[in-house]
Amino acid sequence: MDDCIFCKIIKGEIPSATVYEDDEFKAILDRFPANQGHVLVMPKKHIQNVFEIDPETAGRLYTLTTKIAKVMKETIGFENMNIVQNNGPVAGQTVQHFHVHLIPRYENDTVSVTWKQLELTDEQIEDMRKKLSKAII
Ligand code: AMP
Ligand code: ZN
Repeated sequence: MDDCIFCKIIKGEIPSATVYEDDEFKAILDRFPANQGHVLVMPKKHIQNVFEIDPETAGRLYTLTTKIAKVMKETIGFENMNIVQNNGPVAGQTVQHFHVHLIPRYENDTVSVTWKQLELTDEQIEDMRKKLSKAII
């Protein structure tokens, strides 16, 4: 993808603060972080989002993500962590190249990863459960 900022970072056309890379994945510090130590893990291949990634690649990427999360905790010493992954502009994805956010969390920090909870009836929950359970193999 010619106009993808993460592809440009991967090709070395734009500088990045790389914390890890191998043949398949790259992990960088977010340039505009939610907190100190905010890391992004991405495939080197341009894959747009969860609807495009194959499960094997996603599995390897998440294995790497858990390893990096644990090393980050030991090294930085934060309290907790959010792992966030946005898929599509409506869902807040601003760079359309698959990436996982690892966001260190500290008591009383300014990060917000929340939503307003809907009040659904048991019937609405059951309708959705039936629809999905039938479709998911
Ligand atoms: P998302 O909104 O989930 O697509 O996340 C995109 C992330 O990329 C944001 O957290 C941005 O701060 C980050 N970002 C944008 N440009 C750069 C860059 N040049 N280097 C590192 N991170 C970037
Ligand atoms: Zn890309």
